[in-house]
Amino acid sequence: VSINRVEVRLLRLGLREPFGAAHGDLAGERPLAVVRVGAGPVEGWGECEALPVAGYTAEWAEGAFHVLADELAPRITGLAPDQDTIREALAPAVGRAPMAVAALEQAVLDLELRRVGRSLADRLGLERRVVPAGAVVGLAPDVDTLLTRVRSLVDEGYRRVKVKIHPGWDEVPLRALRQAFPTLELQADANGSYQPGETGLLERLDALGLTVLEQPFAPGDLTAAARLRERLATPVAADESAATADDIAAVVAAGAADLVVLKPARLGGVEAARAVHDRLRDAGVGLLAGGLVEAGLGRRALVAVAALPGFTVTGDCSPAHRWLAGDPWPPMAMGDGMVAVHDGPGIAPPPDADALERVTVARRVVGSS
Ligand SMILES: [Mg+2]
Repeated sequence: VSINRVEVRLLRLGLREPFGAAHGDLAGERPLAVVRVGAGPVEGWGECEALPVAGYTAEWAEGAFHVLADELAPRITGLAPDQDTIREALAPAVGRAPMAVAALEQAVLDLELRRVGRSLADRLGLERRVVPAGAVVGLAPDVDTLLTRVRSLVDEGYRRVKVKIHPGWDEVPLRALRQAFPTLELQADANGSYQPGETGLLERLDALGLTVLEQPFAPGDLTAAARLRERLATPVAADESAATADDIAAVVAAGAADLVVLKPARLGGVEAARAVHDRLRDAGVGLLAGGLVEAGLGRRALVAVAALPGFTVTGDCSPAHRWLAGDPWPPMAMGDGMVAVHDGPGIAPPPDADALERVTVARRVVGSS
């Protein structure tokens, strides 16, 4: 059996709520590149989590669509559909286009699992089959808007809310949230927006009982993060500082984080994420599963990874419909404040064919159609 067909699509999904963060805003829509890899009668799907514009990472959705269609898909047609083969064939592109490569690896993993009728949860050996639901709220125009957004999330059953902060939008909104929701698991994500001299400001947040303060300083400022950790009771997490396995090793060596935000797509996929998870768990470093506004395929992969035992605080585990409208993958189940890990064959159920056509804006097929 060999890969005889790779289909690459650019989808345009709606964004339900503006998603503001210190590094920029996401609003209106979320373009998304996806791939379908076929080997004879079996196929698998992969999702590339590159965002609409470059910045948070070097890749962007539309660019990734072209890289996938023009460069990467032709390299894997004719090869055996197993992850090791694909990883080797695409290794030269990993440095430039890690998330595009991860999308093809994900499709091949999905295909491998489907061929044997096995779920990703089984492959990962998961004992937990549900994870606590965690929502993220972007920067809000005022405190009342923030309170209204968080109120509706709490009413939906979310157990954790992570709030984006930056200098000028931190203590006041967080204090208002803490007063309104005294027992809610509250996290704050600064996206690297504070200067190392602003630790006094961040120390004032320590009284609010946050379970995580994420990425207070710029990614290179490991010394400042290590120093802040000594002065705070609140656990400090590394996200932008932890983009690659090498970055994560440097963060741990510098003592710059209590927790690392693991984004499987950014690290190269589920297998790479599991390897890093195992190392961090052995090193006694906590883990938080980080989202990239995924659709129903990528979000299911994230939720499965988040069920590994090293994930000790609630991650960005909301169903995909929290952010996206028009997602062709079937809705994800959430009940009693928990999100279920997919337990059917593959990483996720296949997308709905009609819904997929409705949101497809470009499509390319490599190999026989
Ligand atoms: Mg973050």
